[in-house]
Amino acid sequence: MRRLFVAGNWKMNTNLASGKELAKGVAAEAQRLGDAIDIAVCPPFVYLSSVKAELAGSKVQLGAQNTWFAAPGAFTGETAVEMLKDIGCSWVILGHSERRQLLGEKDELINKKIAAATSEDLGVIFCVGELLEDRQAGRTETVLETQLSGGLANLDAAVLGQIVIAYEPVWAIGTGVTATPEQAEGAHAFIRGWLTKQYGAKVADSVRILYGGSVKADNAEALMSLPNVDGALVGGASLTTAQFAPILQAA
Ligand code: 13P
Repeated sequence: MRRLFVAGNWKMNTNLASGKELAKGVAAEAQRLGDAIDIAVCPPFVYLSSVKAELAGSKVQLGAQNTWFAAPGAFTGETAVEMLKDIGCSWVILGHSERRQLLGEKDELINKKIAAATSEDLGVIFCVGELLEDRQAGRTETVLETQLSGGLANLDAAVLGQIVIAYEPVWAIGTGVTATPEQAEGAHAFIRGWLTKQYGAKVADSVRILYGGSVKADNAEALMSLPNVDGALVGGASLTTAQFAPILQAA
């Protein structure tokens, strides 16, 4: 049985005060819910430590939104995996479509980052997902397969224990258009089938696959109750406790 996982990707939002306030609100809601699900928040880099302090004593985990793959050294503007571990991160989001599209990140770079993070025991939320034009052209599965095989290239099956996959159709991100339960389940089942082919059923059955893309209080339950959907990666609706709490409750 896979344990549900809901993570908030704050993207480039909040400030110091509002980030701390939000962290406090999420921690309080997590306390109310007990130990039923895993919860993480992923604030911008500059607020990670302050948010961590607000989460003290709470089960809410901390995630970063990116990392570099090399050991500390001369990489101006970058952050190493061991630095993220040092300040208490449990997770890092990699392969997000905004980084693929706006920053030009390719599967090969994402693969290096996934290898670096997992080699130091940092959990990875590995995002994959197709563009609208891919879906309309019937290329969704080809795109997912390319992203999965590129991102996970040369990684041992044991590493999958530290990876959560997030299916985020790009056309659903920040648009208010959510994948239908059929579309989400179809893509998630395809991803699990691919994992089964590569790593065997035991590994594939243990990997959590989150859905992301306009998850809101009113669609969270329908999505997260699907057989192959093991939680959610939430953007916009993770930015206030009022919107995020009902999603946590729905899991
Ligand atoms: P929205 O929930 O704002 O659509 O963002 C989804 C996302 O990109 C999470 O990583």
